[in-house]
Amino acid sequence: MVCTGKDMALAAQLIREGKLVAFPTETVYGLGADAFNAATVARVFETKERPSFDPLIVHISSIDQLDELFLGPIDPRVYKLAEAFWPGPLTIVHNKQPHVPDLVTSGLSTVAVRMPSHPMALELIRQSGKAVAAPSANKFGCLSPTKAEHVIKQLKTIDYVLDGGATTIGVESTVVSVSEAGVKILRHGAIIREAIANVVDVIDEKDKVDTQGLPAPGMIKSHYSPLKPLYILKEGIPETLPAGSGIIVNDARVMPHLPEVKNMALSQDGDLNEMAVNLFATLHAMEDDEQVREIYIQPVEEKGIGRAIMDRLRKASYNYQK
Ligand code: AMP
Ligand code: MG
Repeated sequence: MVCTGKDMALAAQLIREGKLVAFPTETVYGLGADAFNAATVARVFETKERPSFDPLIVHISSIDQLDELFLGPIDPRVYKLAEAFWPGPLTIVHNKQPHVPDLVTSGLSTVAVRMPSHPMALELIRQSGKAVAAPSANKFGCLSPTKAEHVIKQLKTIDYVLDGGATTIGVESTVVSVSEAGVKILRHGAIIREAIANVVDVIDEKDKVDTQGLPAPGMIKSHYSPLKPLYILKEGIPETLPAGSGIIVNDARVMPHLPEVKNMALSQDGDLNEMAVNLFATLHAMEDDEQVREIYIQPVEEKGIGRAIMDRLRKASYNYQK
């Protein structure tokens, strides 16, 4: 059984000792490991069954830690973005220092770094005295965890789960790369494109950015999936669904009451941020309900954080198109 609690000193000590500690961030729970301990980082990949070509995000608690991760001279746009969005859900990809383990970066010459805003995440990193590599604390390709219980459901062999309750944003960080080619969004997330474009120029998503011949990270087509078929409802809310279905609408006010169907809503009144907060927990609830055999979900409007929600839903439903 995985040990769970709120013991910060123990969690920090375990990170220092090269153990795996899941911890809350404002986006989703992360699976933390000392980023400079290659053996521990290897265990992260093993535990998550994550392919070695999908690099990890390194989490820091102080801007001073950037120098041990990013190779100088650091592009001034990195500092502009950090000043605007850190601590917070923005991950910056930039040239790495040679001593950052290749395992962390999947052999790329860049490393992804973020300073989370969750007080428990910041405190854990600070007390451990380490840069903490932390992918989402789930099995690769499966639903992301927004509560400690979601972590325990999927990862049975980690050393500790620091329980901070439910996360407050619910979808992963926005990932941007800063390179000579410009600033490009690699993954949509909690910080919306318009906010980033207010701080630095953002190059068009269709423009090529150097991914060094590897599958562009964050662009894996099937990801974030429940262990049951998930379908996006393309033509509104249906009047009937097969018995044993689950339906997730985005606004409780339009909740249908279909017989023998589990009905859930992502928000009370159509607020996109509330939908993001509830997205993964709602999918987990559908996954856990033995009565539900397949899940139908209403798409959301693709503006603001809605873009990140739809990115997750398209990947989560990738193997199930109707
Ligand atoms: P996760 O930690 O599971 O939320 O996923 C981290 C995301 O950051 C993935 O989409 C990675 O592919 C992406 N990422 C991490 N490092 C890099 C990098 N050096 N270049 C591009 N993307 C990266
Ligand atoms: Mg993930």
